[in-house]
Amino acid sequence: MTGRHLPEGVWRQDRLPNGWRYWVVAARRYSEPEVFRAELDTAMREMVWHPPSWAELPLWSGLGLQEVMRQGRFRMVAGLGVSATPLEYPEDSHLEAYLERGAEPYWATYSLLGIKQLTPDGWQMTYFLDRGLEISGVAVDVVHEQRPEGLSLLCALNRHDECPGSFKPRRWLPLDRRMPCRCECGCRERSQVRAADDPVEQLTEDGDDLEPDGKGGTVAHDKPPSRE
Ligand SMILES: [Zn+2]
Ligand SMILES: [Zn+2]
Repeated sequence: MTGRHLPEGVWRQDRLPNGWRYWVVAARRYSEPEVFRAELDTAMREMVWHPPSWAELPLWSGLGLQEVMRQGRFRMVAGLGVSATPLEYPEDSHLEAYLERGAEPYWATYSLLGIKQLTPDGWQMTYFLDRGLEISGVAVDVVHEQRPEGLSLLCALNRHDECPGSFKPRRWLPLDRRMPCRCECGCRERSQVRAADDPVEQLTEDGDDLEPDGKGGTVAHDKPPSRE
């Protein structure tokens, strides 16, 4: 569906079950041909999400993601994604001939990287095509998800292991005591054996972080889509 009201920097948007997928202009060359876009769709669907810590990532993809994070402004990161299988693309100099005449190309393998961020009403997943020498934003998913009340920020981010079991309510509540986190992951029980001044709690004090900033954080200079 290529409507008239696409956000800037987006060449196409597709419906997702609870949101939209915005295809970013920067990598249009690699996402416009149907055959490639189908591969990308699959890679996005099958993406393996890791907690946002570098230790858990495969080395090469970890380097790519580090570069993306360095250049973009990503907040509220809940997960880092790496495509389960590499994507096969004709090498750049063979791309046109392959698409136009079906000429047998030299093949290159690229990987798809992802950054998953918490938004006030759901999630935003930004995908990047890592072509070795260059990484470009390829698509952004914005999906809505109702989340339970009374979760600490860390549990909302699916970073349950780091949750200290309680949190200071957001600053517009005139309460200066900690509330128990209502997540069912067991964080309250785990917190019994943890130091009270857990440094991760810093994160929940930063009230601005949950404000929508509309940043998709593409590495290229194209503006990411604004929220609907
Ligand atoms: Zn939890
Ligand atoms: Zn919790």
